[in-house]
Amino acid sequence: MILVYACVVFLAAAFIAGCYIYTIRISTGSAIEKPIRRLFLFSVINVAGYGVAMFTKTELSALIAYGLFTTTADIMLIFLLIFARRYTGITSGLELEKKVFFFAILADAVLNIVNVFTKIYFRCAPVYDTFGHLFYRISSFGLLYYIHLVIIYSMALASFSVLLRKMISTPRIYKVKYAGILLITVVVMICHIIYMRFNLLFDYSIIHYSIIAFLICFFSLVYIPRGLMERLLFFTIANMKDGIICIDIEGRCVYANKTARQFCDAGIGMKAIEEQVERWLRENIGESNDIDQWDTVIRSDGKPQYYNIVFQKIYDNHMKYLGSFFLIHDRTEDVNRLLAEKYRATHDSLTGIYNREYFYEASREAIDSDPDRIYYIVTTDVKNFKIINDVFGIETGDKLLKTLAGITRSYSSSECVYGRLSGDKFALCLPTEKFNEEKLLSDFSSVSGFLKSETFKVHIHIGIYEVTDRSLRISVMCDRANLAIRSIKDSYENVAAYYDDHMRDKFMNEQKVISEFDDALADGQFHMYIQPQIFANGRIKGGEALVRWIHPKKGLIRPDGFIPILEHTGLIAKLDMYMWEQACIQLQKWQEEGYYEAYLSVNISQNDFYLLDVYEVITSLCKKYCLNPRCLHLEMTETAIMNNPKSQLKLMERLRQLGFIIEIDDFGSGYSSLNTLKDMTADVLKIDMGFLSKTANMEKSKMILQVIITLAKNLKMEVITEGVEDREQVDFLTEYGCDIFQGYYFAKPMKVTDFEGSYLDTQFDM
Ligand code: C2E
Ligand code: CA
Ligand code: CA
Repeated sequence: MILVYACVVFLAAAFIAGCYIYTIRISTGSAIEKPIRRLFLFSVINVAGYGVAMFTKTELSALIAYGLFTTTADIMLIFLLIFARRYTGITSGLELEKKVFFFAILADAVLNIVNVFTKIYFRCAPVYDTFGHLFYRISSFGLLYYIHLVIIYSMALASFSVLLRKMISTPRIYKVKYAGILLITVVVMICHIIYMRFNLLFDYSIIHYSIIAFLICFFSLVYIPRGLMERLLFFTIANMKDGIICIDIEGRCVYANKTARQFCDAGIGMKAIEEQVERWLRENIGESNDIDQWDTVIRSDGKPQYYNIVFQKIYDNHMKYLGSFFLIHDRTEDVNRLLAEKYRATHDSLTGIYNREYFYEASREAIDSDPDRIYYIVTTDVKNFKIINDVFGIETGDKLLKTLAGITRSYSSSECVYGRLSGDKFALCLPTEKFNEEKLLSDFSSVSGFLKSETFKVHIHIGIYEVTDRSLRISVMCDRANLAIRSIKDSYENVAAYYDDHMRDKFMNEQKVISEFDDALADGQFHMYIQPQIFANGRIKGGEALVRWIHPKKGLIRPDGFIPILEHTGLIAKLDMYMWEQACIQLQKWQEEGYYEAYLSVNISQNDFYLLDVYEVITSLCKKYCLNPRCLHLEMTETAIMNNPKSQLKLMERLRQLGFIIEIDDFGSGYSSLNTLKDMTADVLKIDMGFLSKTANMEKSKMILQVIITLAKNLKMEVITEGVEDREQVDFLTEYGCDIFQGYYFAKPMKVTDFEGSYLDTQFDM
C-alpha cells in the first residue's frame, strides 16, 4: 500500500516538475511567471520530500524528513499567495503579508529543527501498512504543532480570499479563471482537515498539488476564455468613436453602433439608417465598387462637421459575398486643426492680417497671373517706431500696429494683396492703376495723432517699387521699396518715395564701406591730411587734421564718401580714435623736432559722445604721447553741443580746464540761435563756410558774418573762417576782425609731409 501511494506521490512531483519546465519553455517574460516557477519548484521539493519521508526507517531520519516537508509547505504557500495576488492584480498589502509570513516561516523552520531533538512539535512512530511494510509516519502532534497549522491555514486562506474577491468582482466571462483554482484549493484544505481529524495513514491532500499546478499553468499562461474575442469585438465596435453600420447580403441593416445612430439621427429602429444607406448607395458608390470612400460635411448647430465615409464589401475565405459595412469617421477635429494651422501659417499673430510668407506667395501669384499688367509693391514704415515702443510702451506700440494693420486691410480686394512684413512694416501689392498715392498717404496719416501727444506725432513713410523686373523675388521687390523709404527716413512728414536704381547703388556702396571698414583701418588705408590754418598776420602754426581713405582700388576717397555712413553705423568712433592718435603721434614728433607752437585740430563726431568716453580717450592719448593739451584743438560741431547742451558744456569745461582748445565747428549751419553763443564757453568759433558761398544774398551774409565775429570777440573767442577761396573774402574778413583763415585760397588739405615741407612754421605773404 505504501509503495503504491509513494509512486503516486513521486508521479505528482514529476508532473509538477513537468509544469515547471513547461513554464520555462513558453516563457514570455511576464511578471506572473516568476512566482509561478518558485511555487512549482518548492511544490516539487515538498511533494518529493513527503515521498522520501515515507521511506524512512529510523525515527531520526523520519523527524528530519517530515520537518523538511513541513517547512517547504510554508514556503510553497507563501509563493501561492504571491502568485494569487499577482494573478488577481490585488497587490495592496502584499508587502506587509510577505514580512509577517516570513517571520512566521522562520519560526516554523526553527521549531522543526528543534523538534528533531525535543519532539515538541510532532512525534514519529513506525507503522505497518496492510501489506506489512514498515514506515514512519507522524504519530502525534504536540500543542505547538498548531502554530504551524495556523501559519499554513492563514496563508492558504489569504490566497483563497484574494481569488474569491477577484472572482466575485470580475465579469462573468473571466470567472472561470479563478473558480478552478479556488475549487481545488478548497479540496486540498478539506483533504488535509480530514487527514488531521481522522489521523489517516497518508496525507492525500498532497497529490492534489499537481492538479493545482496544472490549473495554475493552464489558466494563468494558456487559457483565453471562450467567446471573449467576440465579446471584446462587440463592445469595441459598440463604443468606437467611429460609426459603423453593417449590411447583410439582402441589403438590410443588421447593426449600427451608437455613433452611427447619432450620425443618422436614428431612434430605436433601423429605418433612418437604412434610408441613409440607400442614399449613399445611390449617390456615392459606384455599382461594381468593392471599396469606396468620400468626404461629407454636415452642419450641426450652424457649425460644419466633417466626415469621411468608407464603404467596403465583405467576402469570406472562399470569396463568397457576406455583406458590407460603412465606417463613418468624424474628421472635424483634424480639419479644424488643419484650418487653424493654415491660419497660423498665413496670418500674423498680433494683427490678424496676412503674414510675410502669405504676402510673398499671393503677390507672386498675382504678378505672374497677369503678365501685361504693371504692379506696384508698396511698403510702409513708422518713423522712430522703436522710440514709440520705448517711450509709450509696447502695448501702445502694439495698438498702433493693429490700427495700421486695419488701414492696410482696408485695401483688401481681388486685385490687391496685403500683409505685415515684420515689425512696423506693412506691404501692398496692387496694379498701378489701382494705386492712388494721395489717398494712401491720407489714409496712413490718420494715425498721426494716435499717441495723443503734442510733441510726438506718428509719421508714416511709404516706399514704392514699380515692378519692372518681374523675375525678382517678392522679398527683393520689398527690399527695394524699403530702400526708397531709406532715402526719406530723416523726413518728418508723411511722405512717399519711389525706388530708382541710384538708391540701390547707394545702398550697395554703403554696405561695401561697412564691410571693408575694419580691414581698411587695420591695413592703414586711412591717412591724415592737414589743411593749414593761417593767422591774420600770415603765420602758420598748424592746421585741421582731415581724413582721407586711400583705397587700393578706388584711390583717394574724400570723407563725404564714408563719414556719414560710418556715423550711421557707429563705426565712426573707431576711425576718430585712430585719427586722434595719428594727430598725437605727429604732434609728438614736431615737439621733438622743436616746433613747440605747432598744433593740430581734430574733429569729434557727435556720435563719439554716445559711443566713447571722449574725456578719457583724449586725456589718456595726451598722457601717452607726453603732449601739452594746448597743441590739441578739439572741434565739436554746434549741433553736437546743442543736442545735449547740459552734459556737452560740462565736458567742454572739464577739457578746457586741462588746457585743451575747444573749437565750435560749423557755427551757423545748425539750428542754434546767436543767443546760445553766450552759454558756449569755447576758445574758438569756426564759422561755417556756408556764409562765404556766392549767393544773391552775399551782402546779407557779410553782415551776419560781421555780427558773429563781433559777438565772438566780445565773448573772448578767437574766430576762424572756413572755406576762404579768394582775396576779396580775406580782405573783408580781416576788416571784420577774423583771426584765422582756412580755405583753398591758401591751401587745400594735403599730405603730412607736404605740410611739414612747405607750411609748418612759415609765414604767408598777406
Ligand atoms: P569740416 O570739419 O567742416 O572740414 C572742412 C572741410 O571743408 C574739409 O572737407 C575741407 O577740405 C573743406 N574745405 C576747406 N577749405 C575749403 C574751401 O576753400 N572750399 C571748399 N569748397 N571746401 C573747403 P573734407 O576734408 O572733405 O571733410 C569734410 C568733412 O568730413 C569735414 O568737415 C568733417 O566734418 C568730416 N571729417 C573729415 N575728417 C574727419 C575725421 O577725421 N573725423 C570726423 N569725425 N569727421 C571728419
Ligand atoms: Ca572740422
Ligand atoms: Ca567745419
